[in-house]
Amino acid sequence: MSGPIDLHTHSAVSDGTETPSQLVRSAVEAGMSVIALTDHDSTAGWHEAIAAAEGTGLTIIPGMELSTNYGPASVHMLAYLFDPLDGAIVAETARIRDGRLHRAERIVARIAEDYPVTWDDVLAEATDESTLGRPHIADALVRKGVVPNRSAAFESILHWRSGYYEKYYAPSPVEGVRMIVAAGGVPVLAHPATHGRYRPMSDAVIGELADEGLFGLEVDHRDNTDEGKRELRRLAAKYGLQITGASDYHGAGKPNRLGENTTSPHVLERLIAAGTGTRPAVG
Ligand code: AMP
Ligand code: FE
Ligand code: FE
Ligand code: ZN
Repeated sequence: MSGPIDLHTHSAVSDGTETPSQLVRSAVEAGMSVIALTDHDSTAGWHEAIAAAEGTGLTIIPGMELSTNYGPASVHMLAYLFDPLDGAIVAETARIRDGRLHRAERIVARIAEDYPVTWDDVLAEATDESTLGRPHIADALVRKGVVPNRSAAFESILHWRSGYYEKYYAPSPVEGVRMIVAAGGVPVLAHPATHGRYRPMSDAVIGELADEGLFGLEVDHRDNTDEGKRELRRLAAKYGLQITGASDYHGAGKPNRLGENTTSPHVLERLIAAGTGTRPAVG
């Protein structure tokens, strides 16, 4: 494994624009040596990604980006190498995806009072297995010519302050860490220091998550502020947490490029040693 290690990528199983096979092709073309597939609240892409990577030399770390709620904030938690058949994980992610689906339908009903978009338009932007989210609503709005691109949709109609927004069911961060660890997985807080609604979690809360088995903090991510990164490095040292970096690639759905932030081989080695629910797939 020599070459860039990118532990946060999305396929069309959630809100990326490439199928797992296309994502693997993009990663090989971009010269990655390891990627983690971390679709939101779903492991449905693992099999296809692993099969596509066979013979390419690309290693796949099976993962997921679990939604959690902490008060008004949506806190994303990366989970690696857990057992995808673990009962609690299967049940909880199904509950989250179902909540997301109905929440998206209600958001679209409100938007449809003001803009020419229907629920069918949104469903047409996703597959049956996709974890539905605002990106799919954004894609429908783009196709209808209401906004020029996803980012414009998020800055206006889909913004959490727009009046159309609502949250969706998710467990607490502590419950998330416990569930991932119980399934043999390795939890890492995703982009914990972004702007606005997704504020850095407090020192005390990170300490509590560390006590429950949190493995690391995704410090090197384009959405973390510089000040936030400094604070996260301090917290990592204080609580003995590992530091990861990743792109959060969404294909054409976001400007993030594969390998724009990476994780050290040393940290990956520790992560693989900590995960007991699934093995990395060496392509
Ligand atoms: P949701 O989970 O439905 O609330 O939607 C949030 C998701 O939208 C996140 O997973 C992001 O990946 C994605 N997202 C947020 N902001 C943007 C943006 N400006 N452009 C594209 N995707 C975005
Ligand atoms: Fe996303
Ligand atoms: Fe995220
Ligand atoms: Zn992500």
